[in-house]
Amino acid sequence: MKVLAAVKRVLDYSVRPRIRSDGSGVDLANAKMSMNPFDEIAVEEALRLREAGVASEVVVVSCGTTACQDTLRTALAMGADRAILVQTDVELQPLSVAKLLKAISEREQPQLVLVGKQAIDDDAGQTGQMLASLLGWPQATNASKVAPGDGEATVTTEIDSGLRIVGIRLPAVITCDLRLNTPRYTTLPNIMKAKKKPLETVTPEALGVDPAPRLISLKAAEPAARRGGTMVPDVKTLVDKLRNEAKVL
Ligand code: AMP
Repeated sequence: MKVLAAVKRVLDYSVRPRIRSDGSGVDLANAKMSMNPFDEIAVEEALRLREAGVASEVVVVSCGTTACQDTLRTALAMGADRAILVQTDVELQPLSVAKLLKAISEREQPQLVLVGKQAIDDDAGQTGQMLASLLGWPQATNASKVAPGDGEATVTTEIDSGLRIVGIRLPAVITCDLRLNTPRYTTLPNIMKAKKKPLETVTPEALGVDPAPRLISLKAAEPAARRGGTMVPDVKTLVDKLRNEAKVL
């Protein structure tokens, strides 16, 4: 079976985001960008399925500017077979990405689409769910274990009260959580090999999708600086401070 994995280029998790001085968003100029960590997990899972003989091909897809080619090359260096860039300079929101991934899924006919449970830049956690809904396919979210069977898959999710195990028919969309696996590192020989792997570029127009954003960001701001904590000698003082200083009681 063919597995499609979606990979987003985001601000590296180790970089502290800086807000632009006009409050119009996060300043990405000269910032280190990387593959969204949950998408590394999605790619890793797809590769493990191929290595286990379950998947025959792993195709990775990214939507965004030409810079996303770097992200796709990283996925190819991890071991993906080929890559598709849906190239646009338009700011993409989850619904637009879901529509683009739907168009690619209809073209590629994968049995499984793996996406991250959320992108660490917008923290939306929406794209996989919207994609499944647009395709009319089953979905399993926040997977911590995926066990594919014949035309179906069993997916485990960690929830507050324990584990939730669901069975879904394929084709399906699965969103990947942190403990699903530990992604492999890319090695220099594989980075070199990845340069020769196929990377196709398509446009939203060619896919018949209008990627224009539906939501407008009004303002971005730094969170208020935290004030230092104080130790109180007893509960009575704590309640007094909460009532008279913090005025939250
Ligand atoms: P979000 O709904 O924005 O939190 O994103 C959830 C997941 O959807 C990500 O982890 C990616 O797998 C996928 N995704 C979101 N945006 C893109 C994009 N521009 N290109 C490729 N995949 C994306």
